[in-house]
Amino acid sequence: MADLFSPVKYLKGVGEKRAELYAKLGIYTIYDLLWHIPRGYVDYSSPVKISQAENDLRTAVEGVVKKKFPEATANGIKLYKVLASDGENDFKVVFFNNRYAYDALGEGKSYIFYGKVSGNLLSKEIISPTFIPAEQREKLVPVYPLTAGLSEGIIRLNIKSALSCLDGMYDYLPKEVQSENLLCTLSYAFENIHFPEDERALSLAKKRLSFDELFILQIGMLFLKRKNRSRTGFKMQRLEIDEFFDSIPFELTGAQKRAINEAVSDMCSEIPMNRLLQGDVGSGKTAVAAAICYFAHKNGCQSALMAPTEILAAQHFNTLRSFLEPLGVNVCLLTGSVSQKEKEKIKKLISQGDFSVAVGTQALIQNSVEFKNLGLVIADEQHRFGVMQRASLSGKGKSPHRLVISATPIPRTLGLIVYGDLDISILDELPKGRFPVETYAVMGKLRERAFGFVKKQLSEGRQAYVVCPMIEENELTEGLKAAKSYAEEIKKIFSGFEVGLLHGKMKPSEKEKIMSDFKEGRIRLLVSTTVIEVGVDVPNANIMLIENADRFGLSQLHQLRGRVGRGSHKSYCVLLTDNLSAEARERLKIIASTSDGFEIAKQDMKLRGCGDFFGERQHGLPLLKIAELDSEMLSQARNSAIKTIKSDPELLKHPKLKAEAERLFKKAGEDIFN
Ligand code: ADP
Ligand code: MG
Repeated sequence: MADLFSPVKYLKGVGEKRAELYAKLGIYTIYDLLWHIPRGYVDYSSPVKISQAENDLRTAVEGVVKKKFPEATANGIKLYKVLASDGENDFKVVFFNNRYAYDALGEGKSYIFYGKVSGNLLSKEIISPTFIPAEQREKLVPVYPLTAGLSEGIIRLNIKSALSCLDGMYDYLPKEVQSENLLCTLSYAFENIHFPEDERALSLAKKRLSFDELFILQIGMLFLKRKNRSRTGFKMQRLEIDEFFDSIPFELTGAQKRAINEAVSDMCSEIPMNRLLQGDVGSGKTAVAAAICYFAHKNGCQSALMAPTEILAAQHFNTLRSFLEPLGVNVCLLTGSVSQKEKEKIKKLISQGDFSVAVGTQALIQNSVEFKNLGLVIADEQHRFGVMQRASLSGKGKSPHRLVISATPIPRTLGLIVYGDLDISILDELPKGRFPVETYAVMGKLRERAFGFVKKQLSEGRQAYVVCPMIEENELTEGLKAAKSYAEEIKKIFSGFEVGLLHGKMKPSEKEKIMSDFKEGRIRLLVSTTVIEVGVDVPNANIMLIENADRFGLSQLHQLRGRVGRGSHKSYCVLLTDNLSAEARERLKIIASTSDGFEIAKQDMKLRGCGDFFGERQHGLPLLKIAELDSEMLSQARNSAIKTIKSDPELLKHPKLKAEAERLFKKAGEDIFN
C-alpha cells in the first residue's frame, strides 16, 4: 500500500491524470491531500420540498433527475440545465460553465441539492448547487476548493482512501504539547476535518490543525532565526554618514534616527541583520532605507530594494535617487516594463558594481540579477506578512543584511509572533508639521454633497482620488461601485476636469502613464481600485472619497487615507457607505476619530478577530490553510515551540516534527536545517 508521503498518483483511484489535476491545487503527496481543507460544510441532513424553500437562501432540496437539457450558451456562458422533481413539484437545476457537475448527474437518480433557490410559484430553480446522491445522506459534507476536472465527489472519495493511509500512530506533535494544549490526535483531526462526526468533533479537529500550523511555523521561525545568527554576515565599519543627514531636505524624526542606528549596529556585527522596519503611513520609512543604503555604499557594498509592485518600485527609485544621487551614489530601476535590451545593460552594470543601489520588483531582482558585492537586501512588503517569501530571500550573495519594511501597523504582541524570526524597529512618530486628514463617514444619500465638496477642492487647484472596491461589475457585486463604469459616471459629473482610471488589471505601462499624468497634474481626479493604496505620493492631492467604505478593512482604509495629507494643503477623506449596520458604523467611526495606525489596528483586531484583520490581503503567514491568527492560540503555539526547542535544540528526539517543519519551509524554497 502507498504510504502517507507517496506521490498522490499512487493513491487508489487517482493515477497520473488526476495527479496532474491535484498538482494544480498544490497537492503532490497523499499527505498534501489530507491537508486539502474543506472550505465549508453542507448540511444535507434535512432537505425540504422545493415549495418550502425560501428564495435567495441556501437550502437543501431532494429531487429525482427527470431530464437533462442540452448545453446552451448565453453571453458566452455555458448553461447546463436539469429538470428535477421532489415528488410534488418540478424544479430546475442550473449550472454555469460547470459541465463536470452536470455530467455527474444521472437521469432517474435521486440527489440532495444544496444551493440558492430562486423563481416563483410556477417555476423554481436552484442555482449552481453542490449535491450528493440521496442514498449517501450524510450529516456534514465537506465542500472543497476545486479545479476543473476534479469534482467534489472525486475529491471526497480520494480523501477517504487517503485517510486509510494514515497510520493511527503517525503524529508529529510532542506528546506534552498535545496534552498541554488539550488537543486531539492527528488522525482524529484529519478524519473529522473531512468527515465530521458532529459540530463538536469538527471544532476539535479545527483547533488541532490550526494549532499545528502555527506551532510548526513557529518551530521553523525559531530555527530560521538561529540559523541566521549562525551565518557570517558582511561586517561593516561604523563609518559616519553625516553628509547624508546634511544633504536631505528635512530633519529626521527621533524614531527615524533610532531605526537607522539600530540597523547600522546590526550591520556592524558578525551576524547578518534581520530586521523589520514597521511604521505608520507617512512615518518616513523610505528615508530610513535610503540612509542605510548609503551606509552600505560607504562600506563598498551594493544594496537591492525590492517592492511588491512596479508602481511602488518606480516610486522608491525616484525617492532613493533624489536622496542618494547628490551624494554620488548610482541608483537603477529594474522592472518588467524595462525593455529587454535595457535590462541586459542594467544587469551588466550591476554585475560590474557600477550601480550601488538596484530597485525593482521582487521577482526580477531575486531571480535574474548577479551582484558584484551585495551587502544589503531591503524588501518592502507593504501588506504582506511573508515569512516564507522572506525566508527565500537569503539566497543571494554571501549573507546579505536584510531589512524588511512593512507599512501595516500591527499590535506589538502580534508582531512579535508574526515576525518571530526578525528583530523589530518601529517608527512611531510622524515628521513635524503633519496635520491629520480630516475624515468623515457619510451615508450614500449625501453623495451629491460629497461630490460638491470634491469639486470645490478641484476648482481650487487640488487633485482628488475616488476609490472603489471592484474593477468590473459582475453578479457578485450588485450595488458595489465598480471602478470602470463608475469612472464613466464620474466623468459626467465632473465634466470640465480631467478624470483618469487606474486599476490592477491594467498593463504596467498603462498604469505608469496614468500615474505620471496624475502626478504632473494632467489628470485631476483619479478613479481607482485599491492599487493606489501602496506608496503613491502626490502632495497636491488633498481629498479622497472612498465608495462602499464598509467593504474595506480598517487598516486598509487607513493605508488608503495615507495617500492624502502629504502636502501643505488641508486634507480630507470622505467615507461613503450605504451600510446601515451598527458594526459598519462603529468601524467607520474608529477610522474617522483617530489617525494612529497602531491604534486602528488594535481596534480593528478587537472588532474582527486576528484572522479577518489580516483579511483577504493576508498573503502570509503563507501556507496557512486553516489557522486563524488568533492571538491567544498564536502565543500558546509560540510558547510550546520555544519550550520544545529549548529541551531538544536539534529536534533529535522529534524527527517527525523536524520533518514536518522541513516540509513546510522547503515548499517556500528554504532549507532551514542545513
Ligand atoms: P512612508 O513610506 O513611511 O509612508 P515616506 O518615506 O514615503 O513614508 O515619507 C513620506 C513623505 O515624508 C515623503 O515625502 C518623505 O520625503 C517625507 N519625509 C520623510 N521623513 C521626513 C521627516 N523627518 N521630515 C519631513 N518629511 C519627511
Ligand atoms: Mg513609502
